[in-house]
Amino acid sequence: MAETKYIFVTGGVASSLGKGIISASIGKLLQARGYKITIQKFDPYINIDPGTLNPYEHGECYVTDDGKETDLDLGHYERFTGIKTTKDNNYTTGRIYMSVIEKERRGDYLGKTIQVVPHITDEIKRNIMYLGKKERYDFVITEVGGTVGDIEGTPFLEAIRQLKWELGKRALSVHLTYVPYLAAAKELKTKPTQHSVKELQSLGIQPDILVLRAERELGQSLRKKVAAFCNVDFEAVVQSVDVPSIYEVPVRMAEQNLDKTILKKFGMEVDSDQVILGPWKDFLNRRRQAKEVVRIGLVGKYDLQDAYKSILESLSQAATYHDHKLKTEFINSEKLTPENVAEQIDRMDGIIVCPGFGQRGIEGKILATQYCREHDVPTLGICLGMQMMVIEYARNVLGYKDANSSEMDVQTAHNVIDIMEEQKNITNLGGTMRLGAYKCRLKKGSLAYKAYHKETISERHRHRFEFNSQYREEYEANGMVCSGINPETGLVEIVEVPGKKWFLGTQFHPEYNSTVLNPNPLFMDFMKHVVKYKKA
Ligand code: GLN
Repeated sequence: MAETKYIFVTGGVASSLGKGIISASIGKLLQARGYKITIQKFDPYINIDPGTLNPYEHGECYVTDDGKETDLDLGHYERFTGIKTTKDNNYTTGRIYMSVIEKERRGDYLGKTIQVVPHITDEIKRNIMYLGKKERYDFVITEVGGTVGDIEGTPFLEAIRQLKWELGKRALSVHLTYVPYLAAAKELKTKPTQHSVKELQSLGIQPDILVLRAERELGQSLRKKVAAFCNVDFEAVVQSVDVPSIYEVPVRMAEQNLDKTILKKFGMEVDSDQVILGPWKDFLNRRRQAKEVVRIGLVGKYDLQDAYKSILESLSQAATYHDHKLKTEFINSEKLTPENVAEQIDRMDGIIVCPGFGQRGIEGKILATQYCREHDVPTLGICLGMQMMVIEYARNVLGYKDANSSEMDVQTAHNVIDIMEEQKNITNLGGTMRLGAYKCRLKKGSLAYKAYHKETISERHRHRFEFNSQYREEYEANGMVCSGINPETGLVEIVEVPGKKWFLGTQFHPEYNSTVLNPNPLFMDFMKHVVKYKKA
């Protein structure tokens, strides 16, 4: 068997160019050619993981099956390839330093002075190589967060420089830059790209492939110019122009032979001219053909696309599979009042009550939940959203006006949502929630069961509070069904109100488990009913 090959993806000029999508697309294309691949992300920030980061800072925190809070790009990797990532697919500067410092304290370095080079860079290198060695992948794709020139990214680029040198023909550098269009000059400008490549070269890394992100077509001569200025082969300069859906990107890359160029540069045989993307293309065709619009309102507190990334992607996948175009609207729960809730929700075909933490905006979520329940709007509550469904039901059906979560009100006499037993003595916030995949047993005949078509499922969690089982009987006697239960602990993971169009909440996050070719059953069933009852 051939030795593992390493592809490094860096970015320049600006952030948010879609490095994660390009990494995922390269992974997708190599996977479609039958190779065993994995994609990992190295983030230069100091936090140990993004678990403690405000979504406004860094977007959604994505949770892996094995319970690691990771960068949202890992969500893209999974959605594109269907391959599950793990705790070893995401490292930060903080995690690297922590490991080095622990070794230093143990005395592992035998009296040496610990320095960025070689100790930190060696630790980075070791972790970059780790999965490749452990799992014998054909390709390990490593995306480096941030942009070239960031101070904190330097040790990562130095590690890549060294690895490129050591691995020789087994390593490849892909650099993503931006080619802006200056409206006043009516011209596309390559200078920022030239500078970005120079910066990379000054760190000792010669890119092998350039992906030029642009809002309009780049044309041959411009690409020739970039190739000439940057010492890159012409066919290795590809463009990534705005597309209606991120899922088009692998196809666009294949059209420009990016996968073939990669294989050739590794000196590998290219067995077939065209990469086979059968079901992926079917999905895209269906997506392009969908004309009718379905409107989903996201009740939450973060007015930022990235904050609910996986929810948006899960919804859009499900909409495609139901031949609809997805339109989402953010409904700011902090601004919801009894006066405006009807107008805000009535415009929607379905509602997602979003996950979250803390007091801010929760009364709005409760209000939205009540409106949806009383007016029979198809609704999915996720994590905090589910907890709000439970609280709302206690207040307005069970008659406990002071019902709350002990997260928001430690004093409440009716803590229908309560801290989990194992969380009670935890003081550190980082990485200590109930995290990762847990089994859940579904009640036969329930909405949840009809969605999944099986008795035992597994979904990912990220929370400290839970349904207080002391109230379970009372809820069930009054019409709320606990339809998903953890078989080991008895924790209530799903609640639903039968006899409605669709009204269900999950303590877990189904959105972490929805890929293009394997959409999540719960989102699919939600969408099916939303479309069925859609307003004309
Ligand atoms: N804040 C709630 C808890 O910790 C819900 C968390 C979430 O929505 N992810 O239980």
